[in-house]
Amino acid sequence: MTPLEALSWQQSVIDRGNERRQDPGFISSLSADPATRVLVVHEGKVLVHDAALVYSPVEVLSKSDFSVYLGSSLVDSTLPAGTELLTIELREALSPEDLGAPADARWLNFRQVAAQLTLADAQYLIEANAILNWHRVHTHCPRCGVPTSIEVSGWVRHCPQDGSDHFPRTDPAIIVAVVGADGRLLLGGGASWEEHRYSTLAGFVEPGESLEQAVVREIAEEVGVRIHSVNYLGSQAWPFPASLMLGFIASTDDVEPKPDGVEVTRARWFSKEELVAAVNSGEVVISHRVSIARALIEHWYGGRIEDAPGK
Ligand SMILES: [Zn+2]
Repeated sequence: MTPLEALSWQQSVIDRGNERRQDPGFISSLSADPATRVLVVHEGKVLVHDAALVYSPVEVLSKSDFSVYLGSSLVDSTLPAGTELLTIELREALSPEDLGAPADARWLNFRQVAAQLTLADAQYLIEANAILNWHRVHTHCPRCGVPTSIEVSGWVRHCPQDGSDHFPRTDPAIIVAVVGADGRLLLGGGASWEEHRYSTLAGFVEPGESLEQAVVREIAEEVGVRIHSVNYLGSQAWPFPASLMLGFIASTDDVEPKPDGVEVTRARWFSKEELVAAVNSGEVVISHRVSIARALIEHWYGGRIEDAPGK
């Protein structure tokens, strides 16, 4: 079990049907079954009604060139367990009624809606975003440049010219709660963020680098602090567009952060009392409830931190 109890993302809520999806006729058979449901995505947004995702009937499959098999639901949630689920991406937003949704359903993205969703709805939305984001920018063969065909129910793109297969990619990124010798937590903020916003530090893993090396390098680069121990706590898929966030807690004896002025423009140490008081009052805003950044901060704190009203 993950030490990050606040992260409920560990339970599998879908059977991705790795064997079944290899069948070239699998999507057609699902398309002919009126019990199949479709999660429709447009520019990263989905239709939401009454704090639940809208799952459209199979008729909407005609509105896209291709669909991707997400899997068979394993739990009763907005969808009953055992529902076969596909996803499509629309080039243009259609009205909710055109997609079999109530007229007052709204197009919302993950950040806008995640905190209200069931675990299963949130996971399906993450999976759909992840695979559709990959298709959007991998339409051609990286070796020879010809358009690729979609195979394995949307999980492989195949090059007809050189026969190569291309698989969905995920970019590992480390995210770190840096703790000082006195137990304080180091948080940072970027120039593009609102002034009062602080989060844990993060960065992409580079080719040829271990996760631990990436933690040490990124923290040194971003805030000039030397890390002497690194412990893994848990992960969260964050496909905006394609990240897998790997969460760590790390220790330092350095006390003087030196923000790089590029990615991080301010860095600040917080004791537990200081952080909770600043967040409760709204002086400081920390990461969103459903993010691994929040889970790391609350792991360090040792409990839930309440946001100021309206933050
Ligand atoms: Zn090729």
